[in-house]
Amino acid sequence: MNQESTKIPQATAKRLPLYYRFIKNLHSSGKQRVSSKELSEAVKVDSATIRRDFSYFGALGKKGYGYNVNYLLSFFSKTLDQDALTKVVLIGVGNLGTAFLHYNFIKNNNTKIEMAFDVDPGKVGSIIGDVPVYSLDDMEKHLEDNGIEVAIMTVPAGAAQNITDRLVQANIKGILNFTPARLTAPDHIRIHHIDLAVELQSLVYFLKNYSEDDTEMSQEENRT
Ligand code: ATP
Repeated sequence: MNQESTKIPQATAKRLPLYYRFIKNLHSSGKQRVSSKELSEAVKVDSATIRRDFSYFGALGKKGYGYNVNYLLSFFSKTLDQDALTKVVLIGVGNLGTAFLHYNFIKNNNTKIEMAFDVDPGKVGSIIGDVPVYSLDDMEKHLEDNGIEVAIMTVPAGAAQNITDRLVQANIKGILNFTPARLTAPDHIRIHHIDLAVELQSLVYFLKNYSEDDTEMSQEENRT
């Protein structure tokens, strides 16, 4: 994201790609304006939150008119740096890693997995979903040669911290961590942690322990 977005609160910034995807679809279908109610129903964020978020973007919706789709689209593409392709690497070509290599990230946002790394000699040298798999031994060289600053990590938990230390040394700026390991890294490294097993368990827990009336509240808490 560019400089302008540093003023936006983090919870709002996290919703940006969600808004962007919906606004892009509206734009392709030829819509000129959208109300916060329509947006709210589509992206499942309550309209008060949407209005607050959009006020940070300088988008002031008018009563009875809504928001201007063109304005929002150009704001989101600029803020999310959609004109620049962000190259990403993936480390750990197991079941989850392989699924990501086959997933077409570029369809919805301007990121692309450029290459992958693994320690398994059976996987090194192969091409999966158009992405070449290299040996982890050569990771630093490839990262430097290609100026890549973002990594997705899908290795076993036990290997995660050591790889993180190497990524930090190799000037990586952001890690999307799918391992259950809680990683230690300097403050300037941004780590987003997605533990699918924990998310699933938490969903099941909420279904069992909270009534329907509480659901909206829990969704809102999740988003902020
Ligand atoms: P699979 O069925 O291929 O074993 P999995 O997702 O169940 O997949 P994991 O044990 O989680 O397997 O390993 C994920 C991937 O990470 C595997 O491809 C494995 O070779 C690789 N891997 C294991 N240790 C490391 C490491 N230190 N560095 C990089 N990759 C590693």
